Amino acid sequence: MDECIFCKIIKGDIPCHKVYESSIVLAFLDINPVQEGHVLIVPKKHNDYIFDLSNKDYTELLLEAKKLSGPLKKATGAKRIGLAIEGFAVPHIHIHLIPLYAGNQLNPLMAKPGDPEQLVKVADKIKEQLK
Ligand SMILES: [Zn+2]
Repeated sequence: MDECIFCKIIKGDIPCHKVYESSIVLAFLDINPVQEGHVLIVPKKHNDYIFDLSNKDYTELLLEAKKLSGPLKKATGAKRIGLAIEGFAVPHIHIHLIPLYAGNQLNPLMAKPGDPEQLVKVADKIKEQLK
């Protein structure tokens, strides 16, 4: 998919605030975070809809989200990490991991452009917890 923004990020054609990479996924900060530390987990293989994945790919993807949730929780001090998948904005599967401090914060209407310097700091904090 030449036009896909996430494929371009995976290829390195578009920069991102990367926090984690494995053979299966790339994880980076959403530049319009719902909460500080809002991470997108994107499978390296282009697919539009998560429930079209094989059981194996689906399971592996969700296990990557689980792996990131602990370090993300520590890095942000959040009470919980919320997970959301919808995929209307970009037709390439992406899991939103969102640090939560109270109910009703898993709300896309709360998304605001992140401060570029703050995004760098947050990405560093998360990477520190993943070491
Ligand atoms: Zn793609």
